[in-house]
Amino acid sequence: MKKDSRTPHIQTRLLRMGKHPAYDGGSPVNPAVVRASTVLFDNVAHQRDMRARRGGERLFTYGARGTPTNFALEDAISELEGAYRSKLFPTGLAAIAMTLLAYLKPGDHVLMSDSVYEPARKLSETFLAPYQIECSFFAADGSDAAAKLRPNTRMIYAECPGSLVYEMCDMPALAALAHKHGALLACDNTWGSGVQYRPLALGADISVMAATKYLSGHSDVMMGSVATTEAAWPALSRYCDAFGMTVSPDDAYLVLRGMRSIAPRLAMHESHALQVARHLQSIPEIQTVFCPALEQHPGHEIWKRDCEGTNGLISFELKAGHDQAAADRFIDGLALFGLGASWGGYESLVTPTDMRNARSVADWSGRGIVVRLHIGLEDPRDLIADLDAAFDAMRRG
Ligand SMILES: *Cc1c(COP(=O)(O)O)cnc(C)c1O
Repeated sequence: MKKDSRTPHIQTRLLRMGKHPAYDGGSPVNPAVVRASTVLFDNVAHQRDMRARRGGERLFTYGARGTPTNFALEDAISELEGAYRSKLFPTGLAAIAMTLLAYLKPGDHVLMSDSVYEPARKLSETFLAPYQIECSFFAADGSDAAAKLRPNTRMIYAECPGSLVYEMCDMPALAALAHKHGALLACDNTWGSGVQYRPLALGADISVMAATKYLSGHSDVMMGSVATTEAAWPALSRYCDAFGMTVSPDDAYLVLRGMRSIAPRLAMHESHALQVARHLQSIPEIQTVFCPALEQHPGHEIWKRDCEGTNGLISFELKAGHDQAAADRFIDGLALFGLGASWGGYESLVTPTDMRNARSVADWSGRGIVVRLHIGLEDPRDLIADLDAAFDAMRRG
């Protein structure tokens, strides 16, 4: 090489080499993990052009707007949800919070389902009022939603099936109601994860998921997603860019990897959960087993119409006379069920609940203690034996 004053010195070259690896041969199965804050442009014109277009187009222009790894996951989620586009968030709760902030303005009212994830209820009850955004709740089956609309209702926010006891609502009917009123319909779709339930196909404008759960599937990533129709997209996109919402490309890679196996995992969770649910129905201390796939479940007909299946979540209510101490003895008597928040990983979990705090429209004051189970991929015969041993521990007092 001709030596001239423009040839970079070794230290400079060390910083510039290996940036654009050319693969001699084929390409990897999975997208590369592209980690970036700075994104470099060829010249000023290139940079100006990218900046001018990035409001409307998804372009790789800065790490906070996502890298090609994030884009690959966004595309996968959009496909699963049947959405125009999707955004990624550091947690499912952040996805919910940004959905509320992006679409509601001072003076607006959001009508929320009584069955929403409890932190979403707390967020709405506590943090919307200072922004002059009103929030109230409708019955989880949607029966009083029309009566509870206000002139300033800008969004109906549903969760179906509901958290903890899986109430079903008629999503197409809620969509018709919202749209007739000039409001948006948003739905927390963490339960269905885009496989068992698809709110956008049923008329919702916005679908929120905690990718933390079944999409990631291995209890090792926190992430949320919001998928929208084309009409609802610009407001969300603007807010995410303005508020710096992004996720690590390493986490995006993990969720994408988890998503490859979501359908067979869910089929197995469903099969195991149904075996356990039927067994629980024979336990004398149990009043009700909650799972939308059971014929006795209120909303079972809607589940049959709108869902592709069920997942690993089931809950049960103890009969009157069994107090929290009894439920605690049951929980502590389990050996194969982990005790902890969240669900959607491969392993079985148990969580105590307090339905009196989790609902404000439905009255749970006279009802029994509810325990939630997440049925994992373990052999269901072992899980049933473990549950039987824990009920024995509960009976021993
Ligand atoms: C877990 C969960 C969330 C929140 O997800 P995080 O990633 O834990 O913040 C939201 N909605 C539902 C229904 C959930 O179960």
